[in-house]
Amino acid sequence: MTTYKIALIPGDGIGKEVIPAGRQVLESLSAADPEISFSFESFPWGGDYYRAHGAMMPADGLEALRGKDAILFGSAGDPDIPDHITLWGLRLKICQGLDQYANVRPTRILPGIDAPLKRCRPEDLNWVIVRENSEGEYSGAGGRVHQGLPMEAATDLSMMTRAGVERIQRYAFGLAQSRPRKHLTVVTKSNAQRHAMVMWDEVAREVAQEFPEVTWDKEMVDAATARMVNHPATLDTIVATNLHADILSDLAAALAGSLGIGPTANINPERATPSMFEPIHGSAFDIMGKGIANPIGTFWTAVMLLEHLGEIEAARRVMAAIERVTANPALHTRDLGGTATTAQVTAAVCAQVASTRSCLTPA
Ligand code: ATP
Repeated sequence: MTTYKIALIPGDGIGKEVIPAGRQVLESLSAADPEISFSFESFPWGGDYYRAHGAMMPADGLEALRGKDAILFGSAGDPDIPDHITLWGLRLKICQGLDQYANVRPTRILPGIDAPLKRCRPEDLNWVIVRENSEGEYSGAGGRVHQGLPMEAATDLSMMTRAGVERIQRYAFGLAQSRPRKHLTVVTKSNAQRHAMVMWDEVAREVAQEFPEVTWDKEMVDAATARMVNHPATLDTIVATNLHADILSDLAAALAGSLGIGPTANINPERATPSMFEPIHGSAFDIMGKGIANPIGTFWTAVMLLEHLGEIEAARRVMAAIERVTANPALHTRDLGGTATTAQVTAAVCAQVASTRSCLTPA
């Protein structure tokens, strides 16, 4: 039996509701499958921790995470703390500190979901967005001068290194190669941004030589938004910079039906550090504490976590359970037009996880 060490960081807002729900699903998996077990450790970092300690997480927090097999993260954000403090003090600190440079966001229209694009069949929208997660527009380079004076100035510098661009392009081409369509779209803005984005394009051309089986094309980020809406079936794997992919993946999540469904993996492909898995949505203060947050994004995130651990059959089993539940409109939360609660959806997925065993395990 393998016991995986999982760090749980619920964080803020509905993170505190969906991460315990994700834990329940993983526990129902280990209850049904004696080959897998989890040892959870929960870290109470986030806005409340900041109010008590003046920091979103302790200075040696990364060290506590290093020994884990994976991290399940909720969200960071607090109505009383500026967003740049909550983001940089927790999520980005972990992603950058543990060099989780590939942010991977699959998008599909799950069974039973009424997605907003009327001409788009579920089979037309099956994408994985790979977001550069360590530098670019969110490198943190920049500064403010003359603060508070009329001549105040501020810069945010988009920093792209050849090594950073190469490793994310290589990861994206490799991922595209592993998918049936073997197609990659490289999103760029090299018409207007004539330095770093031109290097981005050049590196894509070079890395493409290593992947002769992969067909690829290049799309400006503005045109990419229109293509996602008008010709979704022409896309498969997509790679984009930190900022571009941040925006495109929210659009992708909305086109698939709700921000509450999509998963994210922050991967260190070399496995030198633990990778971190989180739903695509944020803290959603408007619904926190009401018990109506959609936990499906966290459950799909748990599927990505299991895949990363190499537990492919277990991942399939949880995904099958999720799809059976989304197929039933009576189990849709409010964001999907239904009235189900977080607890009801969680109980239904756990029950499906328990009952799918017989289909997957040979007699
Ligand atoms: P943050 O600033 O932390 O990114 P946010 O509230 O600005 O958080 P999101 O949490 O990503 O942004 O979501 C935007 C809106 O989408 C929420 O206000 C909420 O109404 C809805 N939403 C997001 N996630 C969920 C979910 N899991 N279940 C139901 N509704 C959701």
